[in-house]
Amino acid sequence: MSNASVERLEAKSREITWLAHILAVLGYDQETMMPSKGAPERGEQMAVISGLLHDRVVDPGLGKLVEELWAKRDSLSPEAQANVRELRRSHLRSRKVPKELVEEIARTQPLAHEAWIKARKASDFASFAPWLEKMFDLKRREADAIGFEADRYDALLDQYEPGMTVARLNPLFEQLRKDLVPIVHAIAAAPRRPDESLLTRRVPQEQQVALCLGLARSMGFDTEGGRMDVSTHPFCSTLGSGDVRITNRYNEGEPLASFFGVMHETGHALYEQGIDPANHGLPMGEAVSLGIHESQSRTWENMVGRGRPFWKHFYPTLQKAWSPAYDGVDPEAFYFAVNTVRPSMIRVEADEVTYNLHILVRYEIERDLFAGRLAVKDLPSAWNGRMKEYLGIKPKNDAEGVLQDIHWSSGLIGYFPTYTLGNLYGAQIFDAVRRQIPDLDARIGRGDLETLREWLREKVHRHGMRWLPADLVREVTGQEPDASYYMRYLREKFGPLYGIQA
Ligand code: ZN
Repeated sequence: MSNASVERLEAKSREITWLAHILAVLGYDQETMMPSKGAPERGEQMAVISGLLHDRVVDPGLGKLVEELWAKRDSLSPEAQANVRELRRSHLRSRKVPKELVEEIARTQPLAHEAWIKARKASDFASFAPWLEKMFDLKRREADAIGFEADRYDALLDQYEPGMTVARLNPLFEQLRKDLVPIVHAIAAAPRRPDESLLTRRVPQEQQVALCLGLARSMGFDTEGGRMDVSTHPFCSTLGSGDVRITNRYNEGEPLASFFGVMHETGHALYEQGIDPANHGLPMGEAVSLGIHESQSRTWENMVGRGRPFWKHFYPTLQKAWSPAYDGVDPEAFYFAVNTVRPSMIRVEADEVTYNLHILVRYEIERDLFAGRLAVKDLPSAWNGRMKEYLGIKPKNDAEGVLQDIHWSSGLIGYFPTYTLGNLYGAQIFDAVRRQIPDLDARIGRGDLETLREWLREKVHRHGMRWLPADLVREVTGQEPDASYYMRYLREKFGPLYGIQA
């Protein structure tokens, strides 16, 4: 195969990636620094760059090149094959969606978003319903344009989790529902309860920031290749090769939220910083999916950060850094408090046991709505009924129910399942780490986070898009993606903690 064609493709790929990074710079600035009067032109700036980016992706020259290389893929290296596979995929996908549909979705998004903000404020679902109807209709048209084999929803899901389908997702989620619901109900009725007041001790912001930055560094966050700022909602964004940013938010009466927030976002950042620099600008230099990304953040936040070994080493550090807030507080009481499980209305505040039931509610409703099996007007009752059945609680209004998430108003349909996939992949991968490094807990208990980080870098991070997500999981763990690892993890941890038969 001619190296010249591969090099031409790589040059095109890098330009596309740099444009995406320019968008990320604009977006990051908007979330962290931009004054409010900057918003209107920032929207225009981002639209111009988005247009350039789209033109590059659908460029017929790129199309010709990827087809030529795809036809001869057997003669390419595995890395070049993966690059061609992914560039061809995004090219074909973007080319199939008519420009007028792309524009109509782009025009509808801010209006639907605005309507959602108002509706949530007034807890008035009826005023948002027509926008939801319109957005789902547009996304159905998009899915039809892209095409699918078995289920229309697959066309959207595939965008966030390449290769994932409803047919693969349903059995995973079905099993999870059967296993999780009884555990949540048992914990709600458990005789032992943590002292939740420990979560709301007051710690000044400077003390929180200092500990969070130290924590990110001790996890391996490279501050010469990234930084940490403040935003309304914590996130992680790659602004360039060698420039990975994380944000956090601070509430002086809820210090542990920033602590776990930074662990989560650093988990994302370590994935981005662990990419092989030789592949920057190419699909091989990009994270493979939202699900795998979330597996990394959740592993650090929950499996490490809410685990006993971690606190064995880290609790004295926290007591000192946040003195006097936790002076004299018993380590076991503290550990129990950070593992509080309580069914609640709001997904983003949910603990690691109840979290996936929130996703299940959304997935089932979204799938039925998209397929036309559920009418928009029946959404609140479908939502409330499932909340009652799965979590044993019922929202008192739509603001804390069906209107709580931004996703549907932004057209992010097919996105929710990736959160749960992240939890499942994370538990399965963590199980594999434990088998391969039998003294992992002891190492973490000594403050050694490097062993885990290097393992993840070697097995997951550096591979970028070499494999599709499910293939990566199989490669790393030797098994198909399976919900039972996650369930075993929950049972072993929360059964003894709450004194229940899980
Ligand atoms: Zn995340």
